[in-house]
Amino acid sequence: MKDKTKAILSGRDPEAHHGAVNTPVYHASTILYPSLDAIRGRAPMEYTYGRAGTPTSRALETAITELEGGAGCVLTPSGASAVALAILSVVKTGDHVLMVDSAYKPTRRLCDNFLKKMGIETEYYVPTIGADISAKLRDNTSLIFTESPGSQTFEVQDIPAICAVAKAHNIKTAIDNTWASPLYFDPFSHGLDLSVQALTKYVVGHADALIGSVAANAENLKALKDTHAQLGHCAAPDDIYLALRGLRTLPTRLAQHQSSALEIATWLNGLSFVDDVLYPALPGAAGHDLWQRDFKGATGLFAVRLAPCSEDQLAAMLDNMRLFGMGYSWGGFESLIVPASVQRTAEPYEETGQLLRLHIGLEDVEDLKADLADGFARAGYTG
Ligand SMILES: *Cc1c(COP(=O)(O)O)cnc(C)c1O
Repeated sequence: MKDKTKAILSGRDPEAHHGAVNTPVYHASTILYPSLDAIRGRAPMEYTYGRAGTPTSRALETAITELEGGAGCVLTPSGASAVALAILSVVKTGDHVLMVDSAYKPTRRLCDNFLKKMGIETEYYVPTIGADISAKLRDNTSLIFTESPGSQTFEVQDIPAICAVAKAHNIKTAIDNTWASPLYFDPFSHGLDLSVQALTKYVVGHADALIGSVAANAENLKALKDTHAQLGHCAAPDDIYLALRGLRTLPTRLAQHQSSALEIATWLNGLSFVDDVLYPALPGAAGHDLWQRDFKGATGLFAVRLAPCSEDQLAAMLDNMRLFGMGYSWGGFESLIVPASVQRTAEPYEETGQLLRLHIGLEDVEDLKADLADGFARAGYTG
């Protein structure tokens, strides 16, 4: 079955729910055991306690696993908690973690504060490092964490090269796979051990629920599930329902996000005051070759670097947009624009100019272009 069909069928079992097309929302903490044998564990029960799973959470876990691959997955209350869980399922005090320098900012904050406090050292590496990651390995390196394309700057990482080095040294690898969604990059066939999704973004798809997932290959699933249980992470039933509902239309929505984003990126690339378009799907853009080799598609999030402008000029543009809203998160049906801010420690970030991050939503492309063009004009950009 192709992904488009899997997205419709996976995790659904109408017969088990009186014919209802969608898996119902089970609100449960207590689950009653039918016998002493059952509560003693002699007669295994599929469901034992709300935090450990309900038919609602199983449905989404099944669907994400079928689409993203791997041996199984767990759900978390947010994408940020999924990142933390993936890392904590691997590391222990005294370890060294290699973290990509283009990581999502809250991931950096976790490393620089919480992990540090636990006696775990984080070293940042340049996103384009590839097989040269081998030079960074230490005896106590336990995890290489990747995010591709990177947050804000969209560098594509050579994941197979990094994973080959990691495997040769028995080091675990993880990816924050949110940009690609469970559809457009297959983490496990590229060699990764763990894959994080902020389902908040494209899977929920409607800017209204926070939820995350971590999927693992067979070798790492037990540690992942144990850590998940020990931390008491679980996602809320209504949010799981929204993710399941979003998932059904994910392939169709993504196809539109992709084609609209590519059209707008191509248009932006031709404007005289646009210095760079950071969108790996755009021919000629940084990372395009790796993207073409490893990805099955592109989503609607990218950045554009404009010639420098003042804060007043920027305000004239951003304060008056008609369609592009200014706000964090992305992956919903609506377009967003935010000034990007880049934090780097592996090597200094040399690029100047005004970096804007765009999320291209499902509005009409010509309307979106007109909104951007008017904004550029307000900021004093011409040509
Ligand atoms: C948004 C995001 C997250 C965090 O997701 P939340 O659900 O907002 O906690 C993690 N990683 C990436 C790359 C993201 O863009």
